[in-house]
Amino acid sequence: MKVLAVDVGASRLRVALFDGTVMVERVEVDTPRVGDSLSVVRAIAGIASRFSFDVIGVASIGPLDLEKGWVIGTPNNPLRSFALRDPLVELFRKPVVIANDCVAAVWGEFVLGGGRGLSEVAYVTISTGVGVGIVVDGRLLVGRRGNSHEAGHVVVDLDSGVRCGCGGLGHWEALGSGANIPRLAYVKALEWGGDSRAWRLAVEGTLTPEALYSLARSGDVFALKLVDYINRVHAAGLASVVAAYDPQVVFLGGSIFLKNKDLILEGVRRYIREYSLLEPPELKDATFGEDSVLYGALAIALKTPPELARYAGVPR
Ligand SMILES: [Zn+2]
Repeated sequence: MKVLAVDVGASRLRVALFDGTVMVERVEVDTPRVGDSLSVVRAIAGIASRFSFDVIGVASIGPLDLEKGWVIGTPNNPLRSFALRDPLVELFRKPVVIANDCVAAVWGEFVLGGGRGLSEVAYVTISTGVGVGIVVDGRLLVGRRGNSHEAGHVVVDLDSGVRCGCGGLGHWEALGSGANIPRLAYVKALEWGGDSRAWRLAVEGTLTPEALYSLARSGDVFALKLVDYINRVHAAGLASVVAAYDPQVVFLGGSIFLKNKDLILEGVRRYIREYSLLEPPELKDATFGEDSVLYGALAIALKTPPELARYAGVPR
């Protein structure tokens, strides 16, 4: 079976053609940020129209309305709300299976990756945002309209004063994701003081994730302190995931994690015990690295779980 797998990220749109589980083509472009509710579909169609395939798997940033097949009010792309499923069914006359990106990615780990043979698996992405996908008792958790575990929005700091892209205070995503690091750095720079290079960038509001982690590697005092704080944030968020779902393994992915795991993983391993009731699970790198969501899109199309089959679109 040939599968068109689509990963609609906040910043990047990835489209791949798979023959069975073998990737034969892969195209990556910027996700549209201006236009209308069909701009993302047009971008997908522009790439996919030269491929032939039997089914489409779409894994997208959330929140989703799975009944409608739309992204609704995403905090991380200015388009906010846009259509995905039905226009793709119409254009290509093929079935379309759709899920939240991390929901798809955990299914990818469970069906094709390091989670094969297990029954409790979590996938956590640390990227533009923070997202979580869960398989418990061998079943994919989907929830009402597809948003059962927007766990990037659990509260990990009551007093941070840092507001999330979603509007809430003290969320894991607000204090640990790529998009929010410059804002967090600004708040912490005023709170802690300092005079290092990273501190000066932070005060200007321009301490990007790339600069933060690279200055931490060069020994910048403020950067190291902020990385340590963010590692505690990740540990607290992961401890909440563990308390809620008791996974055997947590697969960690997302661009911020994958590029900086030398600075993140050891700190998270050290702190997670402090915040956990249960024995912390194994923390492993995502099997498919930066293509984890693409393989998730493949997995939901190849072996569609019943929880998603009811929301799939089929040509009439
Ligand atoms: Zn939030």
